[in-house]
Amino acid sequence: MKLKLDKKDFIPFLQSLMDEYDLFAPVRLAEGVSVYKKIDRPEEVDLSIRNTQKPAKEIFFPQSETMFRYEKAEKENRVTSTEEIRRNRVLLGARPCDIQAFALMDQVFAGKDYTDVYYLNKRKATTVIGMGCDHPLSTCFCSSLNGGPFHREGSDLFLTDLGESYLVESLTEKGMTFQKNKFFEKATDNELALAKGIEEKAAEKVKASVPVDGIEKRLDAMMESPYWDRVQEKCLGCRVCTYLCPTCHCFDIVDEALTKKGRRVRNWDSCLSSLYSQETSGHNPRPTNRERTRQRLMHKFNYFPKNFDRIACVGCGRCILYCPGHFDIRQTIKEIQKG
Ligand code: SF4
Ligand code: SF4
Repeated sequence: MKLKLDKKDFIPFLQSLMDEYDLFAPVRLAEGVSVYKKIDRPEEVDLSIRNTQKPAKEIFFPQSETMFRYEKAEKENRVTSTEEIRRNRVLLGARPCDIQAFALMDQVFAGKDYTDVYYLNKRKATTVIGMGCDHPLSTCFCSSLNGGPFHREGSDLFLTDLGESYLVESLTEKGMTFQKNKFFEKATDNELALAKGIEEKAAEKVKASVPVDGIEKRLDAMMESPYWDRVQEKCLGCRVCTYLCPTCHCFDIVDEALTKKGRRVRNWDSCLSSLYSQETSGHNPRPTNRERTRQRLMHKFNYFPKNFDRIACVGCGRCILYCPGHFDIRQTIKEIQKG
């Protein structure tokens, strides 16, 4: 059954979620700065943000995360875990591209070879309420990567903004448990027709136009290509594209220690940093921007598909929107395909 949530009930609805769950949703922190964060007041939530600047991956893989604390005491050394999920969580209003990226992150952090409890515990405790993109940006190319502005894979519930209300679809068992929320009502046939029209219009705007088929094989033959000299010219090495990418997951672990106590922290890192690949001897296998730019693209379009059978890009367009050098990954893909 498809339901709806009247917008006049939106704040009480959020409050009802917060009574039972830790709620995470999009928030505008300042002009042009938007993130997903834990909500303290329902009024903070802003579902009109088209695609937040920072991706939703932060909910499961924070930019900086204390893994544990340690202390050297008189008689014994103490190690205290910091990973405490006291309440179940709801992630509200995540866009289809960010949600599709969770499936990629799951393969890295919760795949068959390796399980990362920090990621997995948060992931398991979270119900994902996705939201269709009725006004996709000109930089969005999710439809070229098995996604789309109303792609529902990975959502437990899914919202469509109908203007006066939200259409609410339950897609999984987890999602079904929300159906009895007192603010939901049955959607009318007119509202279902309206939702269909909105979805079709959005799909029109983001047609599959970036040719990714066969890119992995093409890159196999390009390791030593002079193309990398040219492509790196636009990159300043600022790393913004990797930090804001919903699928990038490089991290570094550091101990922040005082004399008798300290903490171990995991921080986002980037393959575009020269220090990232520098070895203790001082040797750096990726000594220039050329090798580092190549690595970024090889990882997304060759190594990841080889390991996990899918491309590590969901077409969210953030790396295009926020790159100070106007590096457009869509153009790069096209150039690689042309050879
Ligand atoms: S955002 Fe642009 S300039 Fe910065 S590292 Fe990425 S490609 Fe290079
Ligand atoms: S590579 Fe760029 S377009 Fe692709 S998912 Fe990352 S930020 Fe989005």
